[in-house]
Amino acid sequence: MRVVLLGSTGYHPNELRHTACIMLPQHGIVLDAGTGMFRVGEYLASRELDIFLTHAHLDHVFGLSFLFDVLHGHSVERVTVHAEAAKLRAVREHLLSELLFPVPLPCQYRELTGEVPLCEGGVLRHFPLKHPGGAVGFRLDWPGHSLAYVTDTTAEPNADYIAAIRGVDLLIHECYFADEHQEQAVLTGHSHTTPVAQVARAAAVGRLVLVHMNPLHDVGDPIRLEVARAIFPATDLGYDRMELEF
Ligand SMILES: [Zn+2]
Ligand SMILES: [Zn+2]
Repeated sequence: MRVVLLGSTGYHPNELRHTACIMLPQHGIVLDAGTGMFRVGEYLASRELDIFLTHAHLDHVFGLSFLFDVLHGHSVERVTVHAEAAKLRAVREHLLSELLFPVPLPCQYRELTGEVPLCEGGVLRHFPLKHPGGAVGFRLDWPGHSLAYVTDTTAEPNADYIAAIRGVDLLIHECYFADEHQEQAVLTGHSHTTPVAQVARAAAVGRLVLVHMNPLHDVGDPIRLEVARAIFPATDLGYDRMELEF
């Protein structure tokens, strides 16, 4: 199974990275709709598209407004945006206010409550994270394949969500800060390197890929990968258009 990172930073794009957007092209699944969303059309290969939002902060939803161009030249029969009720309301009332974006999007909206069945016998589950305004993480399971996406949260070595991601083949987890900015991480509801690697180890995941790194630092390694690898060796930095098998 293939997943592509279309946007691997948070807050704002920089020269290397767009904001949060991950796609499973064969399944027509998109996780978060940050500015990396403009690339979805290039990978789109399904007749249906399901977009799951972790929360409604702009770096995760702004790309919804690109949907007309994303769908251009494709015959997609249904697009559904899934999120918690309060987040859907915020998107529709504010981002899609007539004064900000004057036409209704070509999609339907669905409140995220319980499990969501996916094609080919898959299932998506969500679980709460610690972040201002609330966010959810996702776990996607197919027979023999599993993926978790955890972004916009403070990672802690004993975080509640470890139980929800236990044993996944691939964990895509945010890592906004290096360890020296621990205080800022806690203050802003984001993660820093050491506890993210500890979470991966505690959850016994197969592989850890880091995303949502601070866009202020558009250098190769803003979070000191060797610190993470000392705790959890199977760790890599995500980058835009990175393709991963799980
Ligand atoms: Zn974010
Ligand atoms: Zn956020």
